This record gives sequence, C-alpha cells and structure tokens, in this order.
Amino acid sequence: PSSPSSIDLRTWVRDIPDFPKPGILFRDLTPLMRDPEGWGEAIRLLGLLCERVQPDLIVGIESRGFIVGTALATIVGVGFVPVRKPGKLPGEVIGVDYSLEYGTDRLEIHSDALGDGSRVLIVDDLLATGGTAAACTELVLKAGGELCGFGFLAELAALEGRNRLPQEQPIESLIIYS
Ligand code: AMP
Repeated sequence: PSSPSSIDLRTWVRDIPDFPKPGILFRDLTPLMRDPEGWGEAIRLLGLLCERVQPDLIVGIESRGFIVGTALATIVGVGFVPVRKPGKLPGEVIGVDYSLEYGTDRLEIHSDALGDGSRVLIVDDLLATGGTAAACTELVLKAGGELCGFGFLAELAALEGRNRLPQEQPIESLIIYS
C-alpha cells in the first residue's frame, strides 16, 4: 500500500456469487463509491501513487475506470483520457484487438489524446486476468504515450494479471484478494 491507512476498504466491497455468469464471484465496488469516507480514502491513496509517479494524464478504461480515473485526475490536477469500447469515440481513433476467454474484444483511444511522450497512469476498478489492462497498455504506447504506472481499486491475485503488465512499472491495488 502507498501509505498506512486506518480504514479497511474491504468493508465496502460486496461479493455477489455467480454474476455475470455461474462460477464468477463478482466484487461489487459500488458500495465503496457510494460512501464518502471510503471513496475519499480510496482516491486519496491513489493520489499518493500519483505523487510518486507524476503522471501528465490519467487514462481510464470503460466503464468503471472512468469513475476511478476522473475522480483521481480531479484531485491530482491532471487531465483524464477515456479508453472506450469500439465505435464510441467521435474523433479519429487508434484501436487494439485483444482476446477474451471466448472471442475477441477491442479498445480505442482518440489518436491525438496522448501527444508525444505524455506520462500516463492507467486506472481501472479491478485487475483480474490482466487482459484488459494489457490491451490498454498496448494502446497507450501505440498512441505515443509513455507509461508511468497502474492503479486499481482491487486485484484478484490468484489470476496473476500483474504478470501480463510491464514489470518495470509500479502496479498498485488498494485491495488484494488472494
Ligand atoms: P481482466 O481483463 O480479466 O483483468 O478483467 C478486468 C475487467 O473485468 C475489469 O474492468 C473489471 O471491472 C471486470 N472484472 C473481472 N472480474 C471481475 C470480478 N470478479 N468482479 C468484478 N469485476 C470483475
């Protein structure tokens, strides 16, 4: 953790079995977002990560990464850039296709969003297999950004998603489920 905290953020996570399909234990973070104390603490802790890695921009992954990313960008005083599902961004885009358990998916970013060499922190609500964050990494690099780290509210450590991310980058998850 980026700093000692007396608040246990797990208090505000609701476990929902068999959502969105049988066998998945869904870690619902909406109770955390709903609570001013818990949410304020979560964003404050990710703000400490930003103090360390000094991003120029926060990139958030659709859709729960938007909630984390915009809150964080606002307290840190940097800009926010959305990475979206295909066909949602109105301007010229750069895309990356990636494989899912069944089939493929695609993420897009505005091609002029990162400029040359902006330092980018990628955020999302939860790191599971790492497929989404790895695809977003590829996209950020393709768009000319320079990575400076990753921030998540929660991580499912058993899925070893962090092994799919660049090992030289700081990867911070506020809640780690083993
Ligand atoms: P992955 O690409 O496997 O790392 O999946 C990451 C995305 O899926 C995140 O945007 C999460 O919101 C969502 N996700 C995957 N597994 C879970 C889970 N068990 N509980 C809540 N969200 C999940």
